[in-house]
Parts: sequence; C-alpha cells; structure tokens
Amino acid sequence: MDQADLIWMNGELVAWEDAKVHVLTHALHYGTGVFEGIRAYETDKGTAIFRNHEHIERLFASAGLYYMPVPYTQEQIKTAIHELIAANGLPSCYIRPLIYRGAGVMGLNPLDAPVEVAIAAWSWGAYLGDEGKTRGVRAKVSSWRRISGESLIPHAKASGQYLNSVLAKIESHKAGYEEGILLDSQGNVCEGTGENLFLVRDGKIFTPTESGGILNGINRRSVMQIAKDEGFELIERDLARAELYIADEIFMTGTAAELTPIREIDDRPVGSGEPGPVTKRLQQVFDDALHARAERYSAWNDIVPVP
Ligand code: PMP
Repeated sequence: MDQADLIWMNGELVAWEDAKVHVLTHALHYGTGVFEGIRAYETDKGTAIFRNHEHIERLFASAGLYYMPVPYTQEQIKTAIHELIAANGLPSCYIRPLIYRGAGVMGLNPLDAPVEVAIAAWSWGAYLGDEGKTRGVRAKVSSWRRISGESLIPHAKASGQYLNSVLAKIESHKAGYEEGILLDSQGNVCEGTGENLFLVRDGKIFTPTESGGILNGINRRSVMQIAKDEGFELIERDLARAELYIADEIFMTGTAAELTPIREIDDRPVGSGEPGPVTKRLQQVFDDALHARAERYSAWNDIVPVP
C-alpha cells in the first residue's frame, strides 16, 4: 500500500503513522462502521473526484441505516476530502472515508459509544490489475451467498457486512481466480465481492435489480446512464446463474475496479474470451467521464480547488 503523509481524523490532519484507534474501539469488535471508496483522477482540469457528492450522500445514508449520527455535515466532509488531497499533494488517489463507533462502550448496544470520522487517501492503481482492465479477469461463482435483507441491510456500505465479501474473495483467490461472483439467497446472480455485474447478450445489456440485495453502486448507475446515452437497450431483471455461461460479454463496475471485463467464468470463456465490443465502448466512454474528458458528464467531476 502506498502511504501518504496525512490522514484526516475527527477534524484534524494527523501524520499517517499517528492515525490510530484504541483496541476497544466498538467497530473493531462488532463491525459498527460505515465507509466509502472514492477515486480522484489527474485531469487537465485538476484533480477530479468522481461523483464525490453521491459517495458522501451514500456514506451518510449508510450511517443513518446503522443509527450513527454523523458529527459533521456532508459539506464539511466534502471540504475535508479536498483539504486532505491538497495537503497530501496527491494528483490522483483512492479516498476512504470511515465513520465508526469508537471506544468507551462494550456490548451490543453502541448508541452511547462516540461516533468517530476518519478519511484517508493514497495512491492506488488498478484494483484487479492493469492487465485485468484490458484483457479481462477470470472469475468464479462463489459458494457463499450475498448477505440478504433478512439479516442485514445490503444497501448500506457497512464494515461488518464485508466479512461476506472477504470470505468470497479468499475462496476465489485460493481457487486461482481473480474475483468471486456471489449469488443471492434465491440463487440469482448478485454481484462481485466489491463490484456490480453486467452481462451482454445479443447486443442488449442486463444487470440485476436493486431489490435482489446488491449495493447500488455509483459506477453501476453511471455506466447504466452511459449505456442508455449510447443507445443500448438496458434491462434490469433477475439473472439466473446459467445466463453467465451463455453471455457474449460480462463486465463489472466499482470504484476500485472501475470497469473491468470478465474473460472467463467458472473455467468457461466468456464469448470469444476477450473483452467484447459493448464492454470496450462503455469502458472508453466511462474512462473519459472518470478523467473529466466527457463534457456531457462534467457534473460528475468534482475538481479539487487549488489552495
Ligand atoms: N458492490 C459491493 C459489495 C461493493 O463493495 C462495491 C464497491 N463500493 C460495489 C458493489 C460498487 O459500488 P461503487 O460503484 O459505488 O463503488
């Protein structure tokens, strides 16, 4: 991991190595945290944070879903992110805001534990590798099912929920694949461990519905918008596992992975075994949007003010 100089913690910029918590931090024991992953890109217009506003909105929504009052406004968090990137002198970076229940209360009722906020930013390359982004990755349907709304809140991005993704990720890596695909409790296709999923068949684009328990990714919504603008037919519906095997193209979207094609699923080549034309077209427009080169999507780029 590429360290930066400073981390924002509860309103102050502290040295990277001093950004510490007490071992009795509630979130460390029970997973009572919510977080975001955001990316900022080096562009001609400056450092451009992709859909910062939507990420901060989801962060606050996740906090609310787990009864965490945030001691800052969304505007203050936005300013803190700008200050942190400027103070670290990062032209491009991954940004990780985290809101969590701190130390002081043990047991399962955290309501009296302090709510703490930290934001880190560091330089982070392609999550599934540069080659993964161009050639595509190999994925495996996980034996683990995606958490359902019967036990947790899949729409929230909450720390404890990620044990589900961790199990699927480790399983896929140990079996020699780059990513795991989780089905929902009904057996329909849900998503990757940290990415939403799309498949293409006969020129049409399909993606699972939000009600199936996916995290409604910000990149998912962005790519859906781009697909419609590019004139593709886009269908949100339940997708059976077998549809993965007969798809012409499959790709995933997420902040860390951006738009990554899947070239092989459960040891079967997807289509020709190389990223297909729909994936490549969407990847190109999406990349332009991320890097503030697409006028049509310029509202998605939050340019960090130069101090
Ligand atoms: N699903 C899960 C489980 C995730 O962790 C992520 C990453 N936040 C996504 C989907 C994609 O969401 P986004 O496009 O907002 O990064």
